[in-house]
Amino acid sequence: MLPLTRYEQLERLRHGVFDALIVGGGINGAVTAAALSARGLKVALVESGDFAGETSSSSSCLVWGGIKYLQTLEFGLVRDLCRSRNTLMQAYPTQVPEIRFLAALDRDAPHRPLSIFAGTWLYWVIGESFTRKPGYWSRRVLRDREPVLAMHKMRGGVAYSDAYLPEGDAHFVFGFIKRAWGRGAIAVNYTRALEGRVFDGIHHTGLRDQTTGHTFAVKSRAVINATGPWADLFNADRRISTRHRLVFSRGIHLVVPQITDADRVLTFFAADDRPFFVFPLGDRSCIGTTDTRVPAPETEVTDLDRDFVLNNINRYLKTNLTRRDVIAERCGVRPLVVESTPADDTEWTQLSRKHILESDRERRYLTIFGGKLTDCVNVGEEVCEELEAMGIKGPRSLKRWFGEPSRISRRRFLDRLNKITTGLDGPTLWRRYGRDAFLLLKRLEDHPDQARELLPGTGVLECEVRHAAAHQMVVTLEDFLRRRTLLEMTRGRDFLLKSKGAREICRILFGPTADQHWEDYLAMP
Ligand SMILES: Cc1cc2nc3c(=O)[nH]c(=O)nc-3n(C[C@H](O)[C@H](O)[C@H](O)COP(=O)(O)OP(=O)(O)OC[C@H]3O[C@@H](n4cnc5c(N)ncnc54)[C@H](O)[C@@H]3O)c2cc1C
Repeated sequence: MLPLTRYEQLERLRHGVFDALIVGGGINGAVTAAALSARGLKVALVESGDFAGETSSSSSCLVWGGIKYLQTLEFGLVRDLCRSRNTLMQAYPTQVPEIRFLAALDRDAPHRPLSIFAGTWLYWVIGESFTRKPGYWSRRVLRDREPVLAMHKMRGGVAYSDAYLPEGDAHFVFGFIKRAWGRGAIAVNYTRALEGRVFDGIHHTGLRDQTTGHTFAVKSRAVINATGPWADLFNADRRISTRHRLVFSRGIHLVVPQITDADRVLTFFAADDRPFFVFPLGDRSCIGTTDTRVPAPETEVTDLDRDFVLNNINRYLKTNLTRRDVIAERCGVRPLVVESTPADDTEWTQLSRKHILESDRERRYLTIFGGKLTDCVNVGEEVCEELEAMGIKGPRSLKRWFGEPSRISRRRFLDRLNKITTGLDGPTLWRRYGRDAFLLLKRLEDHPDQARELLPGTGVLECEVRHAAAHQMVVTLEDFLRRRTLLEMTRGRDFLLKSKGAREICRILFGPTADQHWEDYLAMP
């Protein structure tokens, strides 16, 4: 089913009564919308910016069992995260593939290589032996196989596996939004939830269309607060008190030219003994991250962060990266759940990353605190259970509300694509679009000229831009360049602002209002 336009969806929001209103279109809101709509419930989701515009596009793009939590002996958390990882790897063979991690260990690492090796075996067993076995790399093997490593202090390396999101975190989140649309859910970006009241058991929540400033109210039987780091603020505005609350840790990543062409994640212990990653993002490398306590969700990258990340990289690798090499930056806060104000001497990095659902069943109001991309399926399932406990149960009990289409569909897509043209990267198109890849195919069959690349070397085709304009609720140029694709991450804003291809993308996306959209993009900080 093709999604309704944004305008049509807003109209439905105005006039319907929904089983649940989800506030927030990050990973937690998106999975909730997909899970509830798959059960046949009437669902609305509103997001004040773009889908995945905040924390869910600032992550390390890893789907992982949290090996680092073995250090804090959180075996239960590691087991649960590994299970969630395995579920996603099984359901998304192309979008969440296994990737090898190489932990390079020098003399300053807090643990010896053999201890880490033993740790990775434990991790592998806890993870139900789902991935390739860990391996030990001697100093010589390290030097031969990963020449970018600065070897002078290296003692050895350990290879183990987890999974990652090759198309990025925002793409993964958008997949759940599409899924929810496909089940009839309304999900609208640039729509902010304002004040709320309850009359006769029905929530009336004020909404503001951020593109026009118009306000109106939506009616729902339940409200789900999936505002991520803003959950406490949202609750406070509604005078909802909860047992849990959030504290924040800023994490940043820098995107730099490709550091290693081996398809693996390099990992080290940073100067503060936290694991530090170099992972592939498109044809670039993404490096980070940091863990800095901050008082509020609104935050930005500081020079101190930049230097911390660059210094760590230059310490372990034969690189000499400076701020001038940075193509793009990513910054967000981890929403960490606590019961009461932690004392100032709380070991900051040891606060748990678990999610917690807290609900007021009588009022039919639910808050999702914390969470990880990795654990998203559990969040979706748990919200469905909680709504059932509130008396809101859908007519269906679908088990498979997530995942890629079957291998047979993929084969059919690749065969049909090969009949039209042999020059395109079919597997990547499939990974990006899943079932929607057939819509692209139809476009290409009707307009073979739309197979042209609009920005040379990026693999982004004209048919993809036209598809996005028609079906992906692109409201600003940044939505497309930063979240529907990785263009801004891998090419950088400065490059895009000078490129004819980006201008053409803007024209295709916005037609008569393209100049205004271009100016808006130019004016962005
Ligand atoms: C640096 C870093 C690295 C990470 N790495 C990983 C990783 O590798 N793997 C992993 O699994 N997890 C990782 N995480 C954790 C994960 O990214 C987050 O926990 C997750 O994205 C949080 O999703 P969310 O939906 O709760 O919040 P968000 O993505 O922030 O979504 C909440 C949304 O609510 C919207 N909103 C707020 N108020 C309103 C309102 N009034 N009306 C409408 N909308 C509103 C916001 O605009 C926002 O988009 C990382 C996090 C960080 C910060």
